[in-house]
Amino acid sequence: MTNRQATDRQATDQSALDAFMRDIEARSPHEDEFHQAVREVARRVLPMLDDKPIYRDLKILERMTEPDRVISFRVVWQDDDGAVRMNRGYRVQFNNAIGPYKGGVRFHPSVNLSVLKFLGFEQQFKNALTGLPMGGAKGGADFDPRGKSHAEIMRFCQAFMTELHRHIGPEEDVPAGDIGVGEKEVGYLFGQYKRITNRFEGSLTGKGLAFGGSEYRMEATGWGVIFFLAHMLAAQEEEIAGKRLVISGAGNVALHAAEQAIRQGAKVLTLSDSGGHLRVEDGLDEERLKQIADAKAHGRALADVADEIDGAAHHDGPPWEVACDVAAPCATENELQDAGAKALIDGGARFVVEGANMPTDAAALKRLTDAGIVFGPGKAANAGGVALSGLEMSQNSVRRAWSDEALCEALEETMRRIHDLCYDWGEAADGEDGPVDYLTGADRAGFRKLAEAMLAYGVM
Ligand code: GLU
Repeated sequence: MTNRQATDRQATDQSALDAFMRDIEARSPHEDEFHQAVREVARRVLPMLDDKPIYRDLKILERMTEPDRVISFRVVWQDDDGAVRMNRGYRVQFNNAIGPYKGGVRFHPSVNLSVLKFLGFEQQFKNALTGLPMGGAKGGADFDPRGKSHAEIMRFCQAFMTELHRHIGPEEDVPAGDIGVGEKEVGYLFGQYKRITNRFEGSLTGKGLAFGGSEYRMEATGWGVIFFLAHMLAAQEEEIAGKRLVISGAGNVALHAAEQAIRQGAKVLTLSDSGGHLRVEDGLDEERLKQIADAKAHGRALADVADEIDGAAHHDGPPWEVACDVAAPCATENELQDAGAKALIDGGARFVVEGANMPTDAAALKRLTDAGIVFGPGKAANAGGVALSGLEMSQNSVRRAWSDEALCEALEETMRRIHDLCYDWGEAADGEDGPVDYLTGADRAGFRKLAEAMLAYGVM
């Protein structure tokens, strides 16, 4: 291809993308996070429609951007003082072409329709990459669990499930946890589901081990991120041992990513929360990590624990200015922005692996990829959590628990397969020197699987 032809092709691609996005933006105004997620996928997938025009004729990509249904409901509960409180609950059932709707539930004040549509949209591709029969969904509420008593959280979960139970079930939609929803909340949700329906069945994942939960579900997302990273490094003939990691977040994903990274000999330099970041120059060990995890489990901020952790110091802001080899944003969407990306590049980072969903905003993504950073997108790298959820569903269906070894092996093997799939599709898309384009690989491999199922069903 001559330079002129290449430029023409890029210009066509840009105008096709803009035209595609105009429709989405007109149909769903003011949904910024959703637009951002769709734009990134469409940018990488639109060229596939030229190669297989039936995808375009049958409007497969358009259909993937419109949820099958959005359920929005009032959640009313009483706080410990007896005052009546109200929140808005949602379930966005995006696509069940390859299995029952599946995806987490988030309780956080930032939850709104745009955030849940972006998460549900991404989830359909992520779940397709796992190779397991799971469709995509996401739910949640604008409820802030911070500062609430256990009794208040329980009453909120019960009120939330009182409506949600009508829309879920093992063959229909299987929610799980996400930000603000851990094992305790899943317990309250499952208990209420069981009480209302009188059925003990795999209608939620992330359950406690005593009532149908799976070994390794809690560890799976964070561990999976590190398994994926290890393959990214191996593809560049490097290894994880000795690498300096900057991790953001201090929730389930960040803490388990740190744990697995330490086990594999990496130096974990940071963790963070909304109050700033904790830095340990010589890298955390498992003992200090456990101290931090215990403190977080008791609702304490990193700023308040830093003094108790040997060799730790607390700093304001995100951790991106700390010099490192690998950055793993594991907190929340759009936490890594242009300035952070620049700081990472200046600090010598060469790999970014996303533990959260869409933690890298569009400007940062462009800066990182232009700089030749090897980039592992969340929909592939953090898929270990939902993959283990898929295995929890299987165990619930056959009413038998797998052994610890079998589950750990399955998680490692799943992350290897996802890595290789994204690598192969990314390499085919690239065709040039430079780091493999895992993001294009993930989007195209996920799209292809969903698209083939949707084609088979005809027009609906
Ligand atoms: N919330 C997690 C995610 O973003 C897990 C979802 C699940 O296990 O269903 O993938």
